[in-house]
Amino acid sequence: MSDASLLLEPVARLIDELGRLPGIGPKSASRLAFYILRAPEAKVSLLAQALLAVKQQVRQCVRCHYISDQEYCAVCRNPLRQTGSICVVEDPLDALAIERTGIFKGSYHVLHGRIAPLEGMGREDIFFDDLLERIGTESIREVIIATNPNLEGEATAAYLQRELSPLGTRVTRLARGLPTGGDLEWADTHTLTSALEGRRELF
Ligand SMILES: [Zn+2]
Repeated sequence: MSDASLLLEPVARLIDELGRLPGIGPKSASRLAFYILRAPEAKVSLLAQALLAVKQQVRQCVRCHYISDQEYCAVCRNPLRQTGSICVVEDPLDALAIERTGIFKGSYHVLHGRIAPLEGMGREDIFFDDLLERIGTESIREVIIATNPNLEGEATAAYLQRELSPLGTRVTRLARGLPTGGDLEWADTHTLTSALEGRRELF
């Protein structure tokens, strides 16, 4: 009897699907699958509904690509937000982390990725072209590059700076001091506030 038939097809399929999630190895996938198998059906049903709801009810803001349940996200809809500055982040959670500091009053632009040649991710895999378009049409005076303080984040920042500087817009980068190698989303509010306030022009 093979492993797959001992496991039963639905269980093997669940392990397979869970194993495709980021950060979930085969061991964790099996553990989660057997947890779900043991859990009451009502609980599993809530999980399944939450998975579907997030796909059916949440989409990307057409302007900044942050998550939204409408055409424009809450930040882009807010008339009190200042136009003229854009904070560029890799992922929605990074925008959320900056939003928690409460000091940035402009709008965001979520790249949904980074430039990482080793992972096969280039300019065409991130929302870069419409950032250029926004800088032109929204009379942007400052672009704050808030990509992660790791290798890919720095490479992405360097790429953005190179592409944006000919436009004559001020391009700044968060100050050093954020834990190197980490993700912006995990930085504490105090550190992030200092990094924002101490941002420096990129040349
Ligand atoms: Zn938006």
